[in-house]
Amino acid sequence: MLKLERVSKFYAGEGVVASGFSKVSLQFDKGEFVAITGESGSGKSTLLNVISGLDSFEEGEMYVDGMPTSGFSGQDMEEYRKKYIGNIFQTFNLINSYTVYQNVELVLLLAGYKKDEIKDKVRDIIKKVGLSEYERTKASKLSGGQKQRVAIARALARETPIIVADEPTGNLDSKSAADVIKLLHDVSEDKLVIIVTHNYDQVEPYVTRKITMHDGKVVEDRKINQAKAETNGNEAFVPSNPGTLSPASTARLGARNTFNLPAKFFLLLFVFIFLCGGTFMAYSSFKNLGAVGAGSGYTNFFSEARADRIVVTKADRSLFTDSDYEKLASIDNVKAVEKEDLLMDTAIVFSNDDIGYYINAAPAKASDYEDMLVAGRMPEADDEAIFLFDDDDAYLSDSAMDMVLDKVSQTYDNNSGTGYSDMKIVGYGHLSDEMLEYLDGSTNWIDGIAGFTDEKLLDIEMAQAAGDSSVEIRTGDRILTMENYGYFNLTVGPSVKEGQVILPEDMAQIGGDGYKDATEITVRAENPFEVKDVTLQIAKTYNQQNVGTVVGVKDFEAVSGNIYISRADYEKLFGDLHYQASVIADDVQDIGSLETAIEDAGFDTFYINKAYTSSNASMTAILNTFRTLILAGVLIVLFFVSYFITKLIFKSRNSYFSIARMLGATRENCAALLRWDMFIVFNIAFAIVAALVIGAGEALYPAPGILISLAGYIEAKDYVILYAVLCVMAILLAARYARQMFRKTAMNAHKEEV
Ligand code: ADP
Ligand code: MG
Repeated sequence: MLKLERVSKFYAGEGVVASGFSKVSLQFDKGEFVAITGESGSGKSTLLNVISGLDSFEEGEMYVDGMPTSGFSGQDMEEYRKKYIGNIFQTFNLINSYTVYQNVELVLLLAGYKKDEIKDKVRDIIKKVGLSEYERTKASKLSGGQKQRVAIARALARETPIIVADEPTGNLDSKSAADVIKLLHDVSEDKLVIIVTHNYDQVEPYVTRKITMHDGKVVEDRKINQAKAETNGNEAFVPSNPGTLSPASTARLGARNTFNLPAKFFLLLFVFIFLCGGTFMAYSSFKNLGAVGAGSGYTNFFSEARADRIVVTKADRSLFTDSDYEKLASIDNVKAVEKEDLLMDTAIVFSNDDIGYYINAAPAKASDYEDMLVAGRMPEADDEAIFLFDDDDAYLSDSAMDMVLDKVSQTYDNNSGTGYSDMKIVGYGHLSDEMLEYLDGSTNWIDGIAGFTDEKLLDIEMAQAAGDSSVEIRTGDRILTMENYGYFNLTVGPSVKEGQVILPEDMAQIGGDGYKDATEITVRAENPFEVKDVTLQIAKTYNQQNVGTVVGVKDFEAVSGNIYISRADYEKLFGDLHYQASVIADDVQDIGSLETAIEDAGFDTFYINKAYTSSNASMTAILNTFRTLILAGVLIVLFFVSYFITKLIFKSRNSYFSIARMLGATRENCAALLRWDMFIVFNIAFAIVAALVIGAGEALYPAPGILISLAGYIEAKDYVILYAVLCVMAILLAARYARQMFRKTAMNAHKEEV
C-alpha cells in the first residue's frame, strides 16, 4: 500500500517558487493499473517522480506499507527505489551501447546477482517481452517499440512490486503503443502499475482507475473496470530483496564500458598516453637535472669529472698490466679503457698573444688522428702539434688556421702549476661525430684534441704525474716542502747529467748550516700509490747574475724556483704512469652497477662525478628543491589538463551513469565502474608509453631524439615508481570525476542528459 497525505512539491528558483503539485492525497494498492492523465504541465511527471523516490517532496507525508518516508536519507531513498520501484520512461533510457541482453542483465547485476546465476532469468524475461531474437542486438539498433519492450523487461527483472511509467508510449506510433500497453498489462499481474499518459484511449481497456490532474491538483479519481481490479485494500507489498553490485561484476562491467564506445576509448587512451608520456618526460628531466647538478663543482685532484668516467686502481696499488686492461675491457657496459688515464686530467692550452685568444685541447697521440688531418702535416718534432676540432665551429676553424701560420705558446694546465714552452701547430683536422659527442661529456671545456709526438705526450703525462705528487727536498735532517719553503718546480734541464741537480742559490743557502754545505740532496716524490726517492749531487747553483750561463735563460724571474734534473731522474720519479686507469661507461645510467662489477673483478674504483657533486652540497640542495618543485608543478598541470579533457570525453558517459543510478547503482558502484574504466585504459596507455621508451632505449627503431634521451634516464625501478604515481593519478582522476557527477541528484543529472 502506497499512501500520499496532502503531499506538495515546490520548485524554488530565481525568487519565485513554482509548484509541481500541491496537497495531493492518494492511496494506491497492489494489483491496481492506474492511469494518470491531464494536460501538459499539470504535475503528472512530478507526482510520478515523487512516488518513485527520484524527487523529494516538501510538505505532507508519503507512506510505504505504513512507513513514513519524509525522514528518509538519500541512501534510504535509494534503498526504497531498489526494493519497490521499476521505472519506464518515455525516452526509454536504455544503455545504447549495450545489447538487449546486457541492458536487462545490468539491472540484475546492480541488484547483486551473479552473472552466471541470472542467464536463464534474463533470457526468460526477454522471451516474455518477445525479443528473444534480438538478445545480442545493440539497443541503439532497435525500433522505438522494441526499445520500450526492453525497458519493460528491465523493469520486470528485479521483481519490484510497483512499476511506474511516464508516458511510455509518447515516442511510439499507435500500433507499437497499443502493443506496449498490452504487454505491460500482461506481465504486471499482482503489481501496482501507474502510467502517466495523455492518450487515455490507449490504456482504457486495461485500467482499473483513472486519475486526472489539473494545475497541480487531483481533479478526478475514478475507479473503472473494478471487476478486473484485484485490490485487497491495505495489503502490503512484497519488496524485492536487492543486494549490491559484486566486485567481480564491477570489474566485468568496467571492462565492458572501457571498450564498448570505441571513440571514447581511443580519446581516453590518447589522454592517458599524453598523461603518461608527459609524466615520463617530467620525471626523466627531473633525473637529468640531477645529473646536470652533478656537473657543477670541481675536484682538486681530477679536473675531468665526466659522468661516464670511473677511475680504477688495483687493490694492491701495483702497476696495471696488459691482462688487467683486458679484464676491465671485458666487463659489461665498458666502452673504453683509458690506459693513459693521467692525460684525461690534463688540458693543453694553446695561446697566441698576437691573435689574442686561447684554445683548450685534450692531449692525445697525433698518430691516432692521422687520417683526420685536412691541412698541414703531422708533427715531427716535440715542439710541433696538430689540432683537431669541430668543423662546424667557425670561430675555431678561423683560429686554428691562423695558428698554423703562427708560432704559439703552449702551457700544460695541470695540477702542478704551469710549464710553458713554444709550440707550433703544423696541421689541423676535423673530428668525427662520435669523437665530438665524447668531448661533449667532458667537464674540462675542451675545444678539440691536440695531437703530439709520442715523446712529447710522455712528457705531458709525466708532468701530470708530477702534479699529482707531493715533492720534498731532503738534506741531512732538513726537509723542504712547498708548505715550509714556498714554490719550487722540479723540471728537466736538457744539460743536466743523470745523478746531478742544478739548484737555485737561495734554496741552497736557506735553512742554516746543515744545508749550506750539503753536496747532495734527496728528492722524494709521493703520489697516492707510491713513494720514490732519488739522491742527486748538487752540480751547480744559479742566481740572478749567472742564470744565463748556468741555465741558459736570461729572465731570472721566469725560472726562479726551478730545480733542474736529468730526464732520466725525472722518469725515475714520475715515470710509473700506469698505477691508475679510467674506464669509460657505455650507459651512464648504469654507472652504479658498472662500479660494482669493476670492484667484483678485484679493483678499487673512484667515481669522480659523485665526489664532484658532493663538493657542492648546498648548490645541489637548491637544485634538488628546484627540480622537485618543477616536477610537482608539471604533474599538477598534467593532472588538471587531463582532468578537463577527461571530463569532456566522459560527457558521453553521463547518461550511462544517470541511467545506472536510476536502476539502483549507488554512488560507490558508479565510482568503482569509473575507476575500472580509467584503470584499464591507463594500463594500456602506460604499456604503450613504456614500450615506446624501452624500444627507443634499446634502439629497436629509429626514434626521435627526445624519446631516446628520455629513455636514457629511466631505469627498471623508475618504471615501478612511474607506474605507482600514474596509477594514483588515474584513480584520483576517476574519483574527482565521480565527485562532480554526484553533486547532482540522480533525477537532475538525468534531466540534464535527456
Ligand atoms: P507534466 O508532466 O504534467 O507535463 P510536470 O510534472 O513536468 O508536468 O510539471 C509540473 C509543473 O512543475 C510545471 O509547472 C513545471 O513547469 C514545473 N516543473 C517541473 N520540473 C521543474 C523543475 N525542475 N524546476 C522548476 N519547475 C519545474
Ligand atoms: Mg511530464
